[in-house]
Amino acid sequence: MRKEDFPILQKVIYGKYPLVYLDNAATTQKPRQVVEAMTEEYYNVNANVHRGVHFLSQQATELHEASRETVRQFLNARSTSEIIFTRGTTESINLVASCFGQAFMKEGDEVILSEMEHHSNIVSWQLLQARLNIRLRIIPITDDGHLCMEEYEKLFNERTRIVSVTHVSNVLGTINPVRDIIRIAHEHEVPVLIDGAQSTPHLNIDVQELDCDFFAFSGHKIYGPTGIGVLYGKEKWLERIPPYMGGGEMIKNVSFERTTFNDLPYKFEAGTPDYIASTGLAKALEYVTSIGFDTIQVHEKDLTNYAFERLMEIEGMHIYGPKAEEHEAVISFQVGNIHHLDMGTLLDRLGIAVRTGHHCAEPLMRRLGIEGTCRASFALYNTRQDIDALVEGIQRVSKMF
Ligand code: PLP
Repeated sequence: MRKEDFPILQKVIYGKYPLVYLDNAATTQKPRQVVEAMTEEYYNVNANVHRGVHFLSQQATELHEASRETVRQFLNARSTSEIIFTRGTTESINLVASCFGQAFMKEGDEVILSEMEHHSNIVSWQLLQARLNIRLRIIPITDDGHLCMEEYEKLFNERTRIVSVTHVSNVLGTINPVRDIIRIAHEHEVPVLIDGAQSTPHLNIDVQELDCDFFAFSGHKIYGPTGIGVLYGKEKWLERIPPYMGGGEMIKNVSFERTTFNDLPYKFEAGTPDYIASTGLAKALEYVTSIGFDTIQVHEKDLTNYAFERLMEIEGMHIYGPKAEEHEAVISFQVGNIHHLDMGTLLDRLGIAVRTGHHCAEPLMRRLGIEGTCRASFALYNTRQDIDALVEGIQRVSKMF
C-alpha cells in the first residue's frame, strides 16, 4: 500500500533491495507529501509566527493555526484551545506530571501507572516523586500481557490523584481497555492521561468519546516529522494547571513585579514553536486520514495475523504478549537462545531493520524475566513480502547458530 510515497523505502542497504523496514514503532518513514510541504514552507513562507505584522509572518501564523485545527479534527477535540504543540509524547507526559503534580498533588498522594509503561511514562512521575514524595502504584500484567483489571480497581484510594497509562504497548502490542480504565478512574473522580504514542498510527482516536482528560502523541510515529507532538487536555484541567516553561508566547504582560499568562493553548507554548513541523504533522494526519483508519486497520491486521502464522513456523520461536487477534502491529519475539542483539544485527545485514533491546521498558522486561527482545513493527506501507523476508531472514540467522 502506497510504498511509492516513501522514497526511503527504495534504498539499497548492504546491496539488498528493497529495504525491509520493520522498525515503525520506533519511528515511521515520511511520505513525500510531508517532506514537500515542509520544504515549500521553508522556501516560500518562512517567518516567525504570532508576533509579526508583515505578510510572511501572518501567512506562517495562519498555516500553524490551521495545523492545530487539523490536529483538533484528528482527535475530535472540542476546541483548538485543548491542543498544545510539544516536542513529542515524552514532553507531553512530562508537562502533565510536572504541572498537574504542582497544582494537585502533595506528599503521600498517588499516581497509578502500569507495568507495561514506556520509560517516559515512568521517569516523568519519578521526577515528581523526587520533588513531592508521591507514591507510584503499578497495575500488574498477566502472563499473556494484559493489564490485571481487578488489581487496577483495587489500587484506588483517597490519595489517588491521576492515572497515566499507555493505550498500546510498544513491546507487547497489547491494546489496553482504555475506555474501562477511564470509566473506572472517573467513578473515583480521578483524571486519566493516555499515552497514545503507539495507538495514534493505527487506531481512530476520539478524545471526546474516550473521555480521557489528557492524551499524548508524537508526530514522528505517525508519518510526520520529528520534534513535534501533541498534548490534548480538557480545558477544565489546562485552565487550572500552571505553565510548564516560561518565555515568549506564553505571557500576556510581563513586569518584574507580576506576569500574567496567555490564554490556552499558548500558556503552554513558551518560545518559538516548530511551525514548520506543525505543517508537516498536519500533512501527515491528512495523509493518514485520506487513506482512512478502516483501510489501515484491515491492512495491518492482515500483516499481523500473517506474521504470527509465518513466525510460528520457525523452530524455537516465542512471541511475547497477547494472541494474534488481540495484538496491535508490534511483535516482540525471541528465537531459541539466540541473543536479540545478534539476531537484530544479522537481520540488518540482510537488509531487514528491526529493533532490539529493552525498548525503553525495563520494568516490563524484568516482569517478563528477560533482558530484551527483537521487535518487528508494521506500518501502512509494509507488505506480506516484507514478512516473508523477515521469516526467511530469521531462518537464515537461526541456521548460523
Ligand atoms: N510512549 C510509548 C508507548 C512509546 O512507544 C514511545 C516511544 O517509543 C514514547 C512514549 C516516547 O515517544 P517520543 O520519544 O516520541 O517522545
